[in-house]
Parts: sequence; C-alpha cells; structure tokens
Amino acid sequence: LFSSLTPVPYDEAYNVKADFDADVHPNKVNLGIGVYRDNDGKAWALPSVELTRRQSEIILLQKAIPSLPNNHDYIPAGGLPQFVMAAQKLLFGSLYSDIRCRLASVQTISGSGACHLGTSFLAKTLKPRSVWISDPSWINHSLIWEVTAPDVQLKFYPYFDAGSKSIDFSGMNLALESRAEKGDVVLLQACAHNPTGCDPTHEQWKQLADLCEKKGLIPFFDIAYQGFASGVPDEDAWSVRHFAERKSMDIVIAQSFSKNFGLYGQRVGALHILASEASVVSAIVSNLVRLIRSEYSSPASWGCRIVAKVLEDPDLREKWLRDLKQMNHRIKFVRQALFEELQKLGTPRTWEHLIRHIGMFSYTGLRPEEVKRLKHEYHIHMFSSGRASVAGLNTHNIIRVAKSIDIVVRD
Ligand code: PLP
Repeated sequence: LFSSLTPVPYDEAYNVKADFDADVHPNKVNLGIGVYRDNDGKAWALPSVELTRRQSEIILLQKAIPSLPNNHDYIPAGGLPQFVMAAQKLLFGSLYSDIRCRLASVQTISGSGACHLGTSFLAKTLKPRSVWISDPSWINHSLIWEVTAPDVQLKFYPYFDAGSKSIDFSGMNLALESRAEKGDVVLLQACAHNPTGCDPTHEQWKQLADLCEKKGLIPFFDIAYQGFASGVPDEDAWSVRHFAERKSMDIVIAQSFSKNFGLYGQRVGALHILASEASVVSAIVSNLVRLIRSEYSSPASWGCRIVAKVLEDPDLREKWLRDLKQMNHRIKFVRQALFEELQKLGTPRTWEHLIRHIGMFSYTGLRPEEVKRLKHEYHIHMFSSGRASVAGLNTHNIIRVAKSIDIVVRD
C-alpha cells in the first residue's frame, strides 16, 4: 500500500538532537535545541514551577482542594478556563480589561500547536494568498504552513544582515511595503527572535504596525520567549500590546509556555485571536473548537494547571518572575564570558554580536564547514547556519568552546 511512499528528510532540529544524543564524548556541548540549561547543562526545572508541582501533587493526594482534579477527567476542548484567562492576562497585562471583549482564546498543544491551529483556522476562514515569514526563522514556521495550508504561498522577507549581524529592518520593511498584498499574513516573532537573537526596536514595531494597518496585512505573532528578551514578561509583550492597542487590526497570537516555565514536554500553550470587533468572538471560538475536536479533541490537563496556579498565586508569581530574571542573567553572563574568551584569544572576526543579541539564540556567523568541524573534532553541536543556543554554555565548557571556535575560524 505504501510502496510508492518516499522518505522525507528529518528537519535539522531533529538531526542535531539525534547527533548530540549519539555523541559519546564525555564533554560534548549542546548548543543545538532551544532549551534553557543550568550551569551543569541540565534542562532547568524552575524552582517556582517545581514547588507548584510538588504542592499540587501533595494536595491531590490528600484530595484537599476540590478545584484540583482527583481523577484524569478530560478538560474542555477549548482548554482549562483558569489557564486560558491566566494566559490572556500574561500576554496583555494592563491592557487585558480593555480588550477582553474582543479576544477569542483557546488552550493548545504548546506553541507549535498554537501556530498550527492558527494556520489551519486562517487557511480555512480567510484563505490568504500568501504568508510572509522572516528569512531566517524558526524552521517549523515554514513546515507548518507548507503542510497545513498547501494553497497558501510561502514568501520570505529579509530579516538578518549578515555583515552587521543585526536586524535588516530596511530590507524587511521594503519587502513588505512593496510586495505584500492586502489579506496576506505576516508572521512576526514578538521577542527574542529565533534563530537570529535580533528584535525590532519599539520605533520599528510602530512602523510595522503602521504598515500592516495601511496595507491590510494580518499580523500573526509567535511569542515563545516571553521573559527571555528583557527578563520582564510585560516588556517582552510590548510588540503584541502595541498592535492590540491600535484596535483597527485583527491579530493572531501563538503563545508557548515551554521555555518561560521550563515545561517543554508538558505541551502548554494558547492561541489568541484579537478581533477588531467583539461581535465575532463567539463565532471564532466555536470554529477553533471545531478544529480542535477534529484533531486531538481536547488538550492535555496537567501542565496548564501548574501555569495557572503560578500565575494566579501572588507568592508563586513573584518566585517565577525571579526565576525568569535568573535565566536572563545567566544567559547574559555566558554571552559575555564567551565574548571575553574570544577577545583574549584574539580570535579573528568580530564577536560583539554575541553580547548584543537577545534571548536564547545567536547567529554566530560561523560557517557550515566550521560548524561541521566543531561537531566532529570538538563535540560541540549547533545548527549548520551557525545558530547557537547559548543557554548550552556554562562555566565548565566556555573556555573549551572559545578555544575550539578560535581554531576552526583560523584554519
Ligand atoms: N516558536 C518559536 C520561535 C520557537 O522557537 C519554538 C520552539 O522552539 C516554538 C514556537 C514552539 O515551541 P513549543 O511547541 O515547544 O511550545
């Protein structure tokens, strides 16, 4: 039956992880996947989240709080109401009470599921001609649109200037201004851009909002790193809130709790559609729920409770905000330390971008053949584009990583 089926390549994230797992070197370094790691290279279980999980499990065992489940019942298809509201408030902050009547939100299978559901919803309802994706972007963005909405044409706007290793804002603006058409979707990462580590300034976000408004483009935000750019979730949602304040646009937002809660495998996320008019909200929610029912029926029920609890409990929320700051400080520290080591070695090329870039990733400028050597000769794993997930750096490996980079760029 399947004899004509040809194998398709796995994506690079899959391959980098597989290569890292297969590498038996005791001092291998993981600069591949976007997972925040502690100074010992372990995926960090945030203390605020762990405390909540443990407390919830004890309460659950004692069956002391009726609002916590003492069984494994389904949660509603659109998600756990307390979680959905907590997700909305985290995203919109003080703007929430003004916009809530225009907001249609559902729980999703993490950020990827939110991107997928939003794509499927737009493809079925608005049937856009094209979607504009940053070049480069998170590799799954193109794949999701390609597989979910094959009739929508993928188009790419320039995003990164390889010379200055900064955002190519004029290239991005020019492409969208001159080539995007009314009704096209524009995919935007709200903060801590993956893979470049470069974000627009507030002024540039305002220009992008003007452009979307003027041309009738549909902004589709992906916010997977709220808290990772500045360390403060309210600041990192600035772009989304600015678009929301305009009131004139319908905007779509895919929200992930994988990174900022360290709940990667729990698959916690939400999709929000902020409509320009309140009257359409119930129709949007019912259509989203229909898509959910057809795909996975209802979302997972455990991680969302942890997120809701942390965000609703003032004490736990304070602890979580401190955890975010701690991740942010460590990332800045390892960026600075790698930069200083390369300076000490007098490594050719400039490396200031390592400290200028924001969040978990840097486009290092390392070339594919150099990345290959780093993997094969020095057991340092990253993407062939030179993207490094800098959270994999720590005080035990920075000197070795710097020395290895120094060797491969000199040869
Ligand atoms: N969006 C971006 C830009 C990402 O980098 C990621 C994960 O790496 C996601 C969305 C989705 O992550 P998840 O599905 O784990 O929430």
